[in-house]
Amino acid sequence: MHTDHVQRSYSFVCLDCGHGWEDTYDIDVTMDEHARITAVYRLDGRRVPSPLQSPYCPACENHKIRIMRPGRVATARRHEK
Ligand SMILES: [Zn+2]
Repeated sequence: MHTDHVQRSYSFVCLDCGHGWEDTYDIDVTMDEHARITAVYRLDGRRVPSPLQSPYCPACENHKIRIMRPGRVATARRHEK
């Protein structure tokens, strides 16, 4: 069993209302003896669901979210119609 602690920032854009935001997650990545990988996400010390699997918009609670690397929110919004 082997655990890595990493920090990742993700940028999100809501496809419904256009709200954009960015969060930095503390992630414990554990690989078990069968090489299965489990990732536990924490935001401000609280355990949260994976933002990649169940993102939702804090502004309108829509679940259609586009996820990007950090720093791209402004660019993505410029391309929206
Ligand atoms: Zn929204």
